[in-house]
Amino acid sequence: MGPTPEGEPRYQPYHHPAAGWGAAKSVTRFLVREGALVDGPRAIMKMNHEDGGFDCPGCAWPDDTKGLHLDICENGIKHVTWEMTRKRVGREFFAAHTVGELSGWTDFALEDQGRLTEPMAYDPDTDHYVPISWRDAFELAGRALRALDHPDQAAFYTSGRLGNEATFLYQLMARELGTNNLPDCSNMCHEASGRALQASLGTGKGTVDLKDWETTDALFIMGVNVASNAPRMLTALTEAYKRGARIVHINPLVEAAARRAIIPHDFRDMATGHSTRTSTLNLQVRVGGDMALLRGMAKAVLERSATDPKALDQEFIDRHTAGFEDYRKLCEATPWEEIERQCGLGRADILEAARVYEDADRSIVSWCLGVSQHEHGVDTVREIVNLLLLRGNLGREGAGPSPVRGHSNVQGNRTCGIDHRPAEEFLDRLARVCGITPPREHGLDTVGTIAAMRRGEVKVFVGMGGNFALAAPDTPLTHEALRSCDLTVQVSTKLNRSHLVHGRQALILPCLGRTEKDHQRGGIQSTSVEDSMSMVHLSVGMKRPASRHLLSEPAIIAGLARAALPDSRTPWEWYVEDYDRVRDTMAQVLDGFEDFNRRVRLPLGFRIRQPARELVFRTPSERAEFSTAPLPDVVPAPGTLALGTMRSHDQWNTTIYSDNDRYRGIRNLRTLVFMNEDDMRERGIAEFDPVDITSTAKDGTTRSLKGFLAVPYDMPRGCAAGYMPEMNALIALCDYSAQSDQPLMKHVRVTIGAAG
Ligand code: SF4
Repeated sequence: MGPTPEGEPRYQPYHHPAAGWGAAKSVTRFLVREGALVDGPRAIMKMNHEDGGFDCPGCAWPDDTKGLHLDICENGIKHVTWEMTRKRVGREFFAAHTVGELSGWTDFALEDQGRLTEPMAYDPDTDHYVPISWRDAFELAGRALRALDHPDQAAFYTSGRLGNEATFLYQLMARELGTNNLPDCSNMCHEASGRALQASLGTGKGTVDLKDWETTDALFIMGVNVASNAPRMLTALTEAYKRGARIVHINPLVEAAARRAIIPHDFRDMATGHSTRTSTLNLQVRVGGDMALLRGMAKAVLERSATDPKALDQEFIDRHTAGFEDYRKLCEATPWEEIERQCGLGRADILEAARVYEDADRSIVSWCLGVSQHEHGVDTVREIVNLLLLRGNLGREGAGPSPVRGHSNVQGNRTCGIDHRPAEEFLDRLARVCGITPPREHGLDTVGTIAAMRRGEVKVFVGMGGNFALAAPDTPLTHEALRSCDLTVQVSTKLNRSHLVHGRQALILPCLGRTEKDHQRGGIQSTSVEDSMSMVHLSVGMKRPASRHLLSEPAIIAGLARAALPDSRTPWEWYVEDYDRVRDTMAQVLDGFEDFNRRVRLPLGFRIRQPARELVFRTPSERAEFSTAPLPDVVPAPGTLALGTMRSHDQWNTTIYSDNDRYRGIRNLRTLVFMNEDDMRERGIAEFDPVDITSTAKDGTTRSLKGFLAVPYDMPRGCAAGYMPEMNALIALCDYSAQSDQPLMKHVRVTIGAAG
């Protein structure tokens, strides 16, 4: 069972501007399909609004600073409409369908059933989920947690949608229980970025904000499909182009945002169909070739500085950095031939990118998963910082590193304590302020949790939002791991695969959505989120909840905590009555959250202080540190290809809205693999031929996907791409980066041949 295909699979390369009328039509079709022609527009008027609006549950692009009335995008409207559906999944639905039967449905069909309305418990005798009261559900989970021999036999997963207050309570519960097993979705997305920035600058986040984007002279956009995954960035790109800034897109694929766009809230452009360029240079590096390109750009700048000292900001380097000489020697020693081979670009292209960088007084380098989901993700992000340091692009307006986070509060989760490797200072403060004895031993991340579940060492898995069964790598193995648990608990808004891949006991706990009013004793509550640029602001629901049985995430966490820790002195229930109380405690524990309740209510909220932005570096040398990593060899072995997984335009993480991918010209198809035409010809594969894709893991094991359709696409030789979560089955659990422990979602070694 799945979305009604609108016809046969089709492929027609897309040449229209991004956003514009295409987005408007797509939104209208979506609102009609979801029966949200009234609710949709009402919500749109409230979305991303600082005065009592709710924060889009989509990506983490910051809210506009110019008070735009319609600060939204096509995909943001889909995310909100999907949550606001009038469809419901209640006890009647679960009585009508066994888990076994539902397991045969597509992921689209599962989520399309609508909003969960009441807590459900799995009944192994009938293979059905049956209703359970909140009290009994908490007691069931509490009993299982109390029965563990050791708190490390439990793991508490977070998907990036969880608000800051719930996040803080969630980590407090886990640590009061006695574990740091706090895997989260950033273990699979930007872990490398955080570790690299921490090592280079002493902070795990970018240092720029939207004002910097509005003033910079050059933007380097690496490994991100902007028009689908951070669509409001299109506004910043068109504005940059209009003011003469240079925009360089670096990606194996030339995505829609690397051409032109029409910004929907620019009514004149919409009326005239006038589109604006969003790129001045596109560089199609090979999969994993970003680091070599950065090294080449740095080498070019250093070579130029021999004749033009202004090519470097030597004063900045001398005053604020460490390790420059070693880095200069490394660049000098790295042969151009090797750089060209590894990045897959010619010298001329590299030099052109370097010239854009040299000619710009202020530059921003922005990146996403195309950079971080590799073996050498940490080294590549550190190479980004190296390049920025050469010209002092740090700590001044219009300049610096700007990672783009893909989930609305994934950065806030880490800031508010979801970290399996917590800092000692944080634990000291938590202990002092909250009166608990937090464990000091590091816990498990996502890969570690799956491995421990398989070994029977983790027996209770709690998923706070998300769809772990689909988001994680090595799908069949992850499913086996989840099924080996004594108990799995999923806190969710909609039915999904993770409810069907469950432990011996299983609970589905339905929570409020971001658009819904959260009534507590203290009145309607607001939650806060942190965007990619460290701005923290409030989000307040505007709709009546989908069911009177729903609880907020803080209330669910308090219920689980009280059941698991009956003697806890933590005032769980008191916190839930009024989230200002949670924020007052967070203000005492978290760095940069002083006076939290007042500052978060300021227009647009507040920016968490970033020491590196003030040229204060919490590194061993108390300076920004150059790194000197050797270039990795990313050139595929003969006969193999480097495959990167990615999202389509009509999906959000693991949520699939349709089988279409408008900007890549795909209709009615997800089981596909994009390949270079010459690579296809060499293998005797034609467009839409069925192929078998086989990956080989570090441990030599292989995994295959059969009968996917091959699609010729403009990308470098030796590269291939396909959609997650379908292709997560190709990524072995052992294939994670030694630098970041991240699964290698963007660098899978595969062979592709005709099916059969
Ligand atoms: S850009 Fe991201 S946060 Fe903004 S409306 Fe779109 S999906 Fe939502």
